[in-house]
Amino acid sequence: MTIFEKIINREIPASIVYEDDLCLAFRDVNPQAPVHVLLIPRKPIASLDNLTDADTELAGHLLQTVPRVAALLGLSGGYRTVVNTGDHGGQSVFHLHIHILGGRSLGWPPG
Ligand code: 5GP
Repeated sequence: MTIFEKIINREIPASIVYEDDLCLAFRDVNPQAPVHVLLIPRKPIASLDNLTDADTELAGHLLQTVPRVAALLGLSGGYRTVVNTGDHGGQSVFHLHIHILGGRSLGWPPG
């Protein structure tokens, strides 16, 4: 079980900012911007590489939830979304998550 499943199950604490039947969002423990939240499905999908046709509705819901969470967090000036995938993508927790970063102007491209 990943650490994110433990957050879903309330086995370890997290600062949860949004949740619904399919997903939840909580503050990253090591924020890289003034606002840094992780949006995750409740379903334990390891990464984008592991999405299946059964997940089409869930994937759409996750994407549509991003702007809702951004609005809740007051990110009216815009924000960055990142989905690290696999070793070269820098993924460290193998439970699909969308980083939502904002609260300052963000550089591009990433390293
Ligand atoms: P990844 O590197 O897989 O794209 O992102 C994983 C993120 O999870 C990292 O930004 C890391 O700081 C965050 N993270 C890892 N463990 C925990 C935790 O126990 N609680 C919270 N809130 N975030 C975590």
